[in-house]
Amino acid sequence: MPHVLITGAAGFVGMHLALHLAQQGYAVTGLDAVTPFFTPLKFERLKAQGFNPDDVLYNKQLISGIYANLSFIQLDLTDFHALEKFFRHNRFDVLVHLAAQTGVRYSVENPQIYVQNNILSTVNLFECCRQYSETAHVLYASSSSVYGATETQAAFAETIDTNKPLSVYAATKKSSELLAHVYAHNYGIAFTGMRFFTVYGPYPRPDMAAYLFTKAIMEERPIKVFNYGHQDRDFTYIADIVQAITALIKLPPPKQTAPHRVVNIGNEHPVQLLQFIECLQNAIGKKAILELLPAQAGDVSHTFADTTQLYRLTGFKPFTPLETGIKQLVAWCKQYPHL
Ligand code: NAD
Repeated sequence: MPHVLITGAAGFVGMHLALHLAQQGYAVTGLDAVTPFFTPLKFERLKAQGFNPDDVLYNKQLISGIYANLSFIQLDLTDFHALEKFFRHNRFDVLVHLAAQTGVRYSVENPQIYVQNNILSTVNLFECCRQYSETAHVLYASSSSVYGATETQAAFAETIDTNKPLSVYAATKKSSELLAHVYAHNYGIAFTGMRFFTVYGPYPRPDMAAYLFTKAIMEERPIKVFNYGHQDRDFTYIADIVQAITALIKLPPPKQTAPHRVVNIGNEHPVQLLQFIECLQNAIGKKAILELLPAQAGDVSHTFADTTQLYRLTGFKPFTPLETGIKQLVAWCKQYPHL
C-alpha cells in the first residue's frame, strides 16, 4: 500500500484521516508541530492514535502508534532544515498537507503567525517535495473562506472568482492554491487543493461554533451569536471529509502543463445558524441562552458548496444529515466534559 505523509496529524481533520487511512492498510506517517493552541485537545487526539504526548514532545523521532503502520513525528514546518533532513531519509507516495494556523477570527488579531504557518510552511513543504521526494500526489487543505465576498445565493462552484478574501486566514489559503499551481506548472508535481466547508464532529476544533455552542448549551452559559444569527454555513461532517479525501488520494490530476485542481468538499446544504442551534438543543435536551451580536471582521455571511466536481471525480459527495452528525458531536462532548 502507498505511504502517506499527513501534516497536521494532531489536528481535528488530520487525526481522523490518519486513523482511517491506517485502518485501510496505508502506511501512514503523521507530522505536527503540536503548536501551543488548544493543546489538551491535541494531546487527546494523539492519544487516540496511540501516541504518548510526552514521547511526542520530548523524543523528536518517529514513534509508533496504535497500529504497526501508523507513526508520528513532531516537526515544525517552518524549520526548513529539520524538514529537509526528514525528507532526505523518508519517502512518501502521497502527501496530505493539513497543517495550518487555523481560525478566521484570530487572524484579525495575529496575522503574522498565519503567514508563517500557512505560507512559509507550505513553501518549505513543496520545496522538499520537489527536491527529495517521489511524491506522486500532493493534496492540501484550502478553505471555503477563499470565496470571501462572493454575493451569489447559489452554490459556490470552483470556477467562481476567489480574489476577494475577507481575512488574512483566507488570503493564506488562497496563497496555498497559487503556490500549488507554481509547483505543478514548473515541476509537474500533481496537486489537489481541497476547499473544506465548516467541518464538525468528535475531537472538534475548540474555536469553532459547533464545539463552542455545544459546550455552552451543556453548561447553561450564553452563546455569542454574531450577525444576529443571519449567517448560514454548509456544515460538513468529519467522516464525509475523510471519505472524500480518501477517494481523491487515488485520483491525481492527469499529466498536463500544470497538473493542479481545486475541489470543494462540502455538504451542499447550508443551514441557518439559528437552525443549527435548534438542532443542538434537541440533541442536548437543553435550551440555548442567546447573546445576539453584530457581525465580526473577517466573517462571511454565507457558504454553500457546489460538489458537482467532487461527485464527478469520485462518485461520492457528503451525505451525513446534520442531526446524525450533531448526535455524534454531542456524545463526544459528554464523554470528554473536561475538554
Ligand atoms: P487544526 O487546527 O485542528 O489542525 C491543524 C494542525 O496543524 C494543528 O495540530 C497544529 O499544531 C498544526 N500546525 C500548525 N502550524 C504548524 C507548523 N508550522 N508545522 C507543523 N504543524 C503545524 O485544523 P483542522 O480543523 O484539522 O483543519 C485542517 C486543515 O483544513 C487546515 O489547513 C485548515 O485551514 C483547513 N480547513 C479546516 C476547516 C474546518 O472546518 N475544520 C475548514 C476549512 C479549511
